[in-house]
Amino acid sequence: MRLNLILPKVEPTQFEYPKKCPRNGCPGMRFVPRQEVSKKIVDAQHPEVTAWRCECKKCGHVFRVYPKGVSQKQISKRVNGMAVMLYILGLSYGAVEIVLSSLGMGIGKTSVYRAVQFVAARVPGLKRENMLSGYQTKAVGADVTSVRCNGKWVTVGIVVDAVNGMVLSIDELPGQDAKQLQAWLEPILDAVGADVVVSDDADALKNVSDETGRAQQVCKSHVVRNTESLVEELSAIISAGQDHSLEAIHVTVEQALQDLASLKEMIHSRRPEDQQRLEKIYLRYASARKPARGKKHDVAYRIRNLFMDRWNLWPRLTFYRTWKDEYGDEILDGTNNHCERAIGWWIKERYRSMRGYKQGRSALGISRLIAFAGNNLSRGMNLADLMA
Ligand SMILES: [Zn+2]
Repeated sequence: MRLNLILPKVEPTQFEYPKKCPRNGCPGMRFVPRQEVSKKIVDAQHPEVTAWRCECKKCGHVFRVYPKGVSQKQISKRVNGMAVMLYILGLSYGAVEIVLSSLGMGIGKTSVYRAVQFVAARVPGLKRENMLSGYQTKAVGADVTSVRCNGKWVTVGIVVDAVNGMVLSIDELPGQDAKQLQAWLEPILDAVGADVVVSDDADALKNVSDETGRAQQVCKSHVVRNTESLVEELSAIISAGQDHSLEAIHVTVEQALQDLASLKEMIHSRRPEDQQRLEKIYLRYASARKPARGKKHDVAYRIRNLFMDRWNLWPRLTFYRTWKDEYGDEILDGTNNHCERAIGWWIKERYRSMRGYKQGRSALGISRLIAFAGNNLSRGMNLADLMA
């Protein structure tokens, strides 16, 4: 996890006057400073600052104006920012209290909790209903994970820009069947104008791309891993000579081993034109019969299914090879790595050090906050912006 967090500062000489009179309904915009008053604060550098009592010229309402980084509260924004930073980095609320208090900044666990929740609630976008406004991308990566909240598993869906890895949305889902995934994903696809969905090879997400008329790229790393382990397993069974199902469909052991070796080679080169080759091999096994209920699936039937599946999957697996943007660049790498990395860094890494979240709201809020920080890695995430 890499983050770039910018802490708020306290500037005792910079006063920020309100644009409008704070009294409800008063349109006054001019204020007279009446009196300088001192204010004790909890801060790393300034134990005391001055504030101004100001009067609205229109209605006579008197209010205080604080220097930059200070509010009517006792704890400075810098200390609140440090609390949020330490929490994001993995400390518990209580541990943040201990660290800051030992450095002379007295902040209670409850204030740490409030500061974190406040900032998390102000992260812009990253919710399906409220996406980063106007953000557009041609391809999104989608994936689903789960986190434990108050003893129960909560399903969390994440959507990233499949081209640059920017996190677009992190949402709690009622479940992960095709209908639920579609209800979640379709508005996001519409909002960002995406034509392509990148995902792992779970059937539910394949359905979503079909139902919504989007093209799909199935993550090549997943498929390569799965295929390799199946090729290895089936080749070993054939070589052991215990299974006689191939004889029944008149395929020799040598032929079957060669077909599996070809599949392994094709899955690595992923040439779009190999689809016909897969079909041809599939046809060699097409007559393999499904074993009776309760009987173990034999080698011939499993090879038949493996080739049928890869033959059908082929366009979704090799999609990225022929898909180009308007400038003729290939902008997808064929994996869903952006999504997996986002889950690992922004959802799972902070979560690993706890026994689970207490509330679903926190799980989403904290994940969104960290993902938002990740989205702002190059500029840095200014915590003061989220505290204003
Ligand atoms: Zn006023």
